[in-house]
Formats: sequence, structure tokens, C-alpha cells
Amino acid sequence: MKSIIHLEEIRKSYFMGRQEIRVLKGINLDILKNEYVALMGPSGSGKSTLMNILGCLDTPTAGKYILNGQDVSKMVDDSLAEVRNSEIGFVFQQFNLLPRLTALENVALPLVYAGVPKKQRTEMAMEVIQKVGLEERSHHKPNELSGGQNQRVAIARALVNSPSLILADEPTGNLDTKTSIEIMDIFGKIQESGNTVVLVTHEEDIANHAHRIVRLRDGVIESDKRRSDQLVTV
Ligand code: ADP
Ligand code: MG
Repeated sequence: MKSIIHLEEIRKSYFMGRQEIRVLKGINLDILKNEYVALMGPSGSGKSTLMNILGCLDTPTAGKYILNGQDVSKMVDDSLAEVRNSEIGFVFQQFNLLPRLTALENVALPLVYAGVPKKQRTEMAMEVIQKVGLEERSHHKPNELSGGQNQRVAIARALVNSPSLILADEPTGNLDTKTSIEIMDIFGKIQESGNTVVLVTHEEDIANHAHRIVRLRDGVIESDKRRSDQLVTV
């Protein structure tokens, strides 16, 4: 089976003046198309740093990142943004919705930037809003929606460009357990419909909804386990 993500000896350092802070210390990882992966690890272990590299929001200091067959490790600015916009949907813990726009308008926003005409935008946005079960709420603004509903809007927005890879950094971090499970079920459906999903969570119960758990510790992969009932062959 083909890897959508192939990482070879990925390193990432931040520089504070002359001091180098080594965060990722040689990550080797393959994620197959259509996997559902939870990334876990203690606070400060480098999860967000890794997710930002996977999402082409940041680039590694060293190492190779092949995304969908394309070497993105040395890409910068415009070409990196192009890959990000066409290949990746990113979901954040804080939803990052625009408060003055309705759910539908928030979801359609990436299509505005992509120059899609209005009628088509609305149709495409409604389709993904239905996918996350929010059709009744499409004309509400973020402050009229619950946390779980806002996260569903953010997930729909991440899906609207039809990316193959969905990345989510602690998407349930601000939600109660029941709502978190609902959100995990939505990610499960997204995976079943053909996407690859990689998400970060702190909670074992939440991570167990995924099919594979990768654990980071101090910038290296400590363990990588597929759930035994998942038939995945590398
Ligand atoms: P996690 O998401 O696992 O909590 P992060 O990837 O956010 O971990 O951070 C890993 C380490 O890198 C932490 O020690 C953090 O302070 C440091 N770090 C993260 N971002 C930056 C940055 N932009 N500049 C300097 N240090 C950073
Ligand atoms: Mg983090």
C-alpha cells in the first residue's frame, strides 16, 4: 500500500538567539493512504511541531518529507502554500472561525480564496456541512453554536477543498467527553469515505477511536501500534 506521508530523519530546531532548541530529533514515519492515526505524547514532546510540518505550515530543519509522492521538505512560501491548499485540511483546537460569518460562510471561505464562483461555493459548502450533520445550523454564527457544533463547522471547512489528508491538532481539547466522542465519530466517517486522518489527543479513550496510535516522547517516536482488529498491511 502507498504512503501518503513518508518522513525520513525529520529534525526541527527553534533558535532563540544563539541557543538551539532541538524539538524533533529524527522522526521516521510512514502513514498509509486512508489510515486513521492518533498522535499522542506529553505536553512539549513536539506533537504540534510535527503536525505543523505535516500540514506544510512549517518546514523541517533537516530530513525528508514526501507528501503524496512529492518532496515538500525544501519547499518555501508560494509552492508550500499551494501544496497546503490543495492537499491538506487542518483543524485546530480553537476552531479558528470568523465570528461575523455564518457556519456556511466560514465553510465556504477557502473557496472564496480559491476563486470558486458563489453558487458553486454554496453548493460545495452545503455538501460538507451535511457530512458533519449541521445542515439545520448552517445560517448560525459561531456564538450561536455549541463548542462541538463549532468544531464540526471547522471540520467541514477543512473538508471543503476535498483534501486527501485531514490533520487535527487537539480537536477535542476544548470539548467534554460526550462531544469529543461525537467528533471522533465524525473523523471516523471522514476516514471511511476515503480520507487519511491524523489527529493529536491527550486522552487514551479518545485515541482508541483511531486505528493506530503513534507516541512521541522528547522529540522521538516512542511507540507505534496498530489496533489488532485493523487489517492494515505495509
Ligand atoms: P506539544 O504540542 O507536544 O505540546 P510543541 O511541538 O508545541 O509540543 O512544542 C515542543 C517544544 O518546542 C516545547 O518545548 C516548546 O516550548 C518548543 N517550541 C514550540 N514552538 C516554538 C517556537 N516557535 N519557538 C521556540 N520554541 C518552540
Ligand atoms: Mg501541542
